[in-house]
Amino acid sequence: MTSSAHMKQISILGVTGSVGQTTVRLLRQHPERFCAAALVAGQNVAALAELARELRPALAVIADARQADALREALAGTGIATAAGPAAVCEAAALPADVIVAAIVGAAGLAPTMVAIQQGTAVALANKEALVCAGPLMLDAARQHGTRLLPIDSEHNAIFQVLTHERRESLVKIALTASGGPFRTWTSEAMTQATPEQALRHPVWAMGPKISIDSATMMNKGLEIIEACHLFDLPEDRVEAIIHPESTVHGLAWYCDGSVLAQMGPADMAVPIAYALGWPERLATDVPMLDLLALRALTFAPVDPGKFPCVELARAAMRAGGTAPVLLNAANEEAVAAFLLREINFTQIPDIIQATLASAPILPIHSIEDIMHADRQARQTAKAMCHRRAA
Ligand code: NDP
Repeated sequence: MTSSAHMKQISILGVTGSVGQTTVRLLRQHPERFCAAALVAGQNVAALAELARELRPALAVIADARQADALREALAGTGIATAAGPAAVCEAAALPADVIVAAIVGAAGLAPTMVAIQQGTAVALANKEALVCAGPLMLDAARQHGTRLLPIDSEHNAIFQVLTHERRESLVKIALTASGGPFRTWTSEAMTQATPEQALRHPVWAMGPKISIDSATMMNKGLEIIEACHLFDLPEDRVEAIIHPESTVHGLAWYCDGSVLAQMGPADMAVPIAYALGWPERLATDVPMLDLLALRALTFAPVDPGKFPCVELARAAMRAGGTAPVLLNAANEEAVAAFLLREINFTQIPDIIQATLASAPILPIHSIEDIMHADRQARQTAKAMCHRRAA
């Protein structure tokens, strides 16, 4: 593929983050296959401008409206259009592109991800919080607009790969693996004293701060269970979570004949992102091939619900449906932020989430506005609880 006519146009929402940077790494490796359409960041205007100068997108957008002038000045004379603010982020998501990488962190990514899905091409989905809050709406929109959702989360990407050729009636259940995070071997008592620095030190994956804390509480696996239920149309009791410290097997599917299909690979996000960018073809990456003989052993263990209550909180929210996953997600985002600011202890994160869920009625969702309303209310409640505990 040498002609630009065959080039895929890629928009990256969240280009300055961990997933965004890995996506850029792949674009650099395959300049003959990919070019940038729109690049979006939250606040980091310097990093966005540098990436835009390198990748030459048609449009660069910064979500923080106060940085509009800084971005315009940084890209003056390049011919790259610039814009700022949340509405401009959605405009970037609507720019024609072959693949839109949805890699904004948190519920802030919901509106732009919905706009991306309405474009009728392909959305490479990393922003799990959007799917947790708006799963049914997003899947309806994808069906309506003929959009292909390509999961980037490594476990979901693994399931996406192992379900491809199988008849759905023969599928019994799936499992998502989890490294167990930095506190896998800690006692519950020791975890009460865990610092943000310790919680951010993930043993396997290098990721952004929010998902790193989610991995330490294992809320990440809880959010992923909800994500998997939506993406693969499965009830929560057919989606297992299994601790697998080597992070080599990412997802497994059990079939009625006793077969289990698993996807394995190095713990590098370049692998699932390459799968999504190249789909339906496979792209070469610079990731070293998996060396099973060097690994020698793969181990598996159940999740301890006493130590990691967030997994069951997420399952309960999924079973409750309606706004429950929205409340769960909003309370989690606020509690994680408060923990990073040292306002609450690590083990108070699930307490805040549980109390927030108990404080509001679970309502049906008919629109994005219903989600935004529940999200705002849950944030207020969770924030107030965090401040009371900090006082
Ligand atoms: P990071 O914190 O590293 O990056 C977040 C990105 O979102 C940054 O580019 C940030 O911009 C941008 N951003 C933040 N707020 C806004 C906003 N309001 N509007 C527009 N852009 C915004 O996160 P990760 O890359 O780790 O994670 C991104 C998503 O992918 C999350 O949903 C996460 O759960 C999921 N994911 C991540 C994995 C990983 O390995 N990191 C693996 C699987 C899923 P700025 O830098 O300017 O603040």
